Amino acid sequence: MPSSSSQTELLSLSNQELTDVILRLGEPRFRARQVADAIFRQRRDSLETASNLPAALKSRLVEEGFHVGFPQIEQKFTSIDGTVRYLMAFGDGQSVETVWMPEGDFGEAGDGTEAGAEELEELGSEATKSRSSEAVSLGGTKTRSRATICISSQVGCAVNCQFCLTALLGVKRNLSPGEIVGQVLAVLRDHSVDLERERMNIVFMGMGEPFLNYENFMKAVRLLVEEVRFPESRMTVSTSGIVPRIVEFGRERIRPKLAISLNAPNDEIRERIMPITRKWNIAALLDAAREFPLRPRERLTFEYVLLQDVNDARERARELVERVRDIRCKVNLIAFNPGPGVEYTMPTHERVLEFQSILTAAGVPSYIRRPRGRDIYAACGQLKRTVV
Ligand code: SAH
Ligand code: SF4
Repeated sequence: MPSSSSQTELLSLSNQELTDVILRLGEPRFRARQVADAIFRQRRDSLETASNLPAALKSRLVEEGFHVGFPQIEQKFTSIDGTVRYLMAFGDGQSVETVWMPEGDFGEAGDGTEAGAEELEELGSEATKSRSSEAVSLGGTKTRSRATICISSQVGCAVNCQFCLTALLGVKRNLSPGEIVGQVLAVLRDHSVDLERERMNIVFMGMGEPFLNYENFMKAVRLLVEEVRFPESRMTVSTSGIVPRIVEFGRERIRPKLAISLNAPNDEIRERIMPITRKWNIAALLDAAREFPLRPRERLTFEYVLLQDVNDARERARELVERVRDIRCKVNLIAFNPGPGVEYTMPTHERVLEFQSILTAAGVPSYIRRPRGRDIYAACGQLKRTVV
């Protein structure tokens, strides 16, 4: 599937590729570092504004057809809970959504990482909660503890999960590595984030199936880690269960944490709500999960969207326990977020708590994901470029 012309987008280039371009133009090698500094760290969205670069080099790059490749923030919707949903447009007119969630929560709690431990601590007591909300003092004027950025990997999605609004768009195209990284940079810039002082998380849980755009997704991850200097332990990718890619992902040297959208404890229900189950059934998916090489203290996440009267019965919780109890994991319960064109019902909070209590009693750690930005269509599964 095509993505945009990533060859001329500076944000898509690894340090090696950028160095090759610079050398080809007859410039000294250190210029590559300067270009990378300007775009990945100073977040310059155009070559003209990159004040650290000589004018001659900038015009050479433009003549050769290079551009930075920052997305345009076309629209911004702010929720009463502080969540911001961005509509980000690319050069060819296509757009995706990116979400900024101050204070999380995309289910970082209990995942065995530093970010997860912090989340747990914050959930733990009122005392730590109030401390956390002023954890970072920015020059004595602004305070912010942490935030999570949810980014898209494709324009639309081909997977066709029946409960997801993004599925209604179908898939238009893959995003290039630069378009994935660009979403992060645009949001960081919009919030003037200082990555050295503020605790940021990235979740690849926006529009699209990252493992169906695997190469570009992984290149974006490496650029985020190596160029933007975003810690990999603070990134999580969610997949609907593309089994061969899960296996390949496990072999990556640099990789985010893994979340799998399980959503049902048996094939019959899963096939109904996630047709992709016909290609890789739950047994195949859980085999890949069981063999996934977790790092010390790392846990795999299973996401489970609770749809009333479809997969939220007590018996389903017991079935789920049996299927995942031998895997070092946690379960993130997500109450269905409704939207036009999707025919499911949100379970009551009591029902969600009841489901969770069965997991807890069986010793399977689970967390209820806080819905963020439902009022502006920014919550899980609601991203379909709704203009409200
Ligand atoms: N395509 C990937 C990542 C994006 S979806 C995946 O499916 O895993 C991120 C999460 O939102 C998934 O766990 C998905 O199951 C969940 N989700 C989708 N639609 C939803 C909805 N309407 N309500 C709540 N969660 C939803
Ligand atoms: Fe695609 Fe994920 Fe939505 Fe399924 S839940 S349609 S995989 S974005």
